[in-house]
Amino acid sequence: MMRDSRYDVLFEPVRIGPVTAPNRFYQVPHASGMTNALPRVRAGFRGAKAEGGWGVICTGACSIDPTSDDAPLPMATMWDKNDIRAHALMTDAVHRHGSLAGVELWHGGASVMNRASRLPPLSPSGIPWMATHIGFMGNLRPKSMDKSDIRDVLRWQAEGARKARTAGFDIVYVYAGMGYLGYEFLLPEYNKRTDEYGGGIENRIRFVKEMLDVTRDAVGKDCGVALRVSLEELRGRAGTHQASEAHELIELLSDHADLFDVKMDSSPTDCSASRFTGEGSHEPVIDFVKKMTDKPVVGVGRFTSPDTMVSQIRRGVLDFIGGARPSIADPFLPNKVREGRLEEIRECIGCNICISSWHDSVPVRCTQNPTAGEEWRRGWHPERVEPAKKREKVLVVGGGPAGLECALTSARAGHEVTLADAGKAWGGRLTFEKTLPGLAAWNRVVDYRLGRLNDMTNVSMYLESALGVDEIIDLAPDHVVLATGARWTRMLYSSMEIPVGQLDHPEVYTPDDIAAGRLPQGPTLVFDFDNYYYGGVLTEHLAVQGIPVSYVTPAGQASAWTIMTNELPLVHKALARRNVSVTTLQMLTDFDGETATLTHLFNGEQTQVSCRSVLIVGLRLPRTELRDALEARRADLEAAGIKSITTIGDGLAPGAITHAVHSGHKAARELGLGQSRKLYLRDTPITDCEPGFEHAEAAE
Ligand code: ADP
Ligand code: SF4
Repeated sequence: MMRDSRYDVLFEPVRIGPVTAPNRFYQVPHASGMTNALPRVRAGFRGAKAEGGWGVICTGACSIDPTSDDAPLPMATMWDKNDIRAHALMTDAVHRHGSLAGVELWHGGASVMNRASRLPPLSPSGIPWMATHIGFMGNLRPKSMDKSDIRDVLRWQAEGARKARTAGFDIVYVYAGMGYLGYEFLLPEYNKRTDEYGGGIENRIRFVKEMLDVTRDAVGKDCGVALRVSLEELRGRAGTHQASEAHELIELLSDHADLFDVKMDSSPTDCSASRFTGEGSHEPVIDFVKKMTDKPVVGVGRFTSPDTMVSQIRRGVLDFIGGARPSIADPFLPNKVREGRLEEIRECIGCNICISSWHDSVPVRCTQNPTAGEEWRRGWHPERVEPAKKREKVLVVGGGPAGLECALTSARAGHEVTLADAGKAWGGRLTFEKTLPGLAAWNRVVDYRLGRLNDMTNVSMYLESALGVDEIIDLAPDHVVLATGARWTRMLYSSMEIPVGQLDHPEVYTPDDIAAGRLPQGPTLVFDFDNYYYGGVLTEHLAVQGIPVSYVTPAGQASAWTIMTNELPLVHKALARRNVSVTTLQMLTDFDGETATLTHLFNGEQTQVSCRSVLIVGLRLPRTELRDALEARRADLEAAGIKSITTIGDGLAPGAITHAVHSGHKAARELGLGQSRKLYLRDTPITDCEPGFEHAEAAE
């Protein structure tokens, strides 16, 4: 299919200093969690995006020196020759498809704790970053940089840039965003210096300007020099000659950078979840940048619609369509636009599980794209599935995220697939969850898969078809995949975190009751120890229905785990907006229909709360009835020619949607392999060269 000519502008080449990007699709730097310890995994992950048409592919933050050490959070390094070789695998993978490779050289300043290197963190004036996230907290405060420290950082940046060029990078970054060292120089609250680096904006930008200049001197003939800068705070501060200090910064640095990569200041605003923020949310902050410079500008906004992308270019907001999450969810997004296959775009749902992977210090996971991070180690291509050696009949029972993904991937392998679900609509848990406040975009998981399945001739799909053992035997498939999901329980735990049995009362509800349309009567207490989004969003849902609702959790925060997905501050805001009281560190220990008894997690003190109903969002267990019934009829199944029964998704191990999708994909790729399936390949760091930190030597 040919693309619509209105998208042609997205495929124009754009110059970045001495190099030229083949199109306007720009994968901005984003954490992959892969580090230099997994160089082949990383090259496979980034290379897939180049194959899918992204014109520029960047690394995540890449430390220029051990004084910038974010451990245990995953980070890349550009310290020695082994690092150069590790990165070269990625640049080769990117160049193989004609794309440019960019490196986000980075110094974390006061925001890192240097836990591994044990060196003092550096900062303009000794002011620490205030961390509210446990993974970021530390107890080492930064030293104030003297002039020789500044000279050192400039030298490390120049050496890092030369190493990056040796590794094959085409674009080299200076990073002045998100609380890191360059950013700390920009803000007077961090920068109290009385020398030429502190004071007015022209002094506060001096360090960043010098970082750009040393980078240009080192590699500017061969590589584009990019500045990544956070503008949210500065945009809110009046300038002396221009509308804001952000305007002045761009004007003052315009001749020093070949490209401006502009973003927000904190992770929750920069990379906000779709539950709270829509596509293109950065525009009000960064819309002025192009007016202040003739250099190309890249920005993000979870862009998945090509019309929005074209609008950003035509309206003069951006030159490059930056993508981090959209490129993870669909590495082939640009090629699908190029080839007029828009309906095949696997749109990011904005759940931020990818970000949580970084916070968890593991390689990136994606809800929409189960192949992310699996390209090299499992050999999973994001678009292609190896054809099955033998076309077989596959019956998938359950059409939630796991079943839909399994059916689609099995069908792509060429099998004859039957998909059945007891419900009236496809989507399993999402048929209800998509109706909850802010979660509509999550249904893209269903829409994408249904759309593709509907296009296939080797798939038969049946709704309102609850299957039992007899129906399955009648269908006599070669393989049965059970994707029958999980159910919520009324189980409670003790303060020792030991299950203490069910809380049984007619007015005790579970999320399954709410999904089935059974609403609690009167004031309701939501007790949440699931800790992810569901307790919080169901509380919002009840409040929207006009039910007086309070929220109680044994954790220290409402929806505590959402700190990992950047949602936590916004969950609290949403609950406050709906006048929901939030009580933390309490266990629910009893309920008699009129009063709930709460017990303090640590001191055992009891509190009585008047309420008519309780909703427990706690433990979920797999639905195993069908599997158990099938197990009991093994001989009949064998007689019917059924060779395998596989359980996937929540029916196997209840989890987030990302777990279900990955489980469904894996089962389809491994269909019929039985015990012969292989362990994934285990990557190893590159250690060919003697380790050492001789910056100058490694930088030629
Ligand atoms: P997952 O997240 O693992 O995909 P879901 O709970 O979202 O799980 O989906 C499970 C689906 O399985 C539901 O749509 C449910 O209607 C369906 N299901 C459960 N048992 C049966 C059955 N015996 N026959 C057909 N469909 C079933
Ligand atoms: Fe988008 Fe969620 Fe995938 Fe991240 S994990 S890229 S937010 S779909």
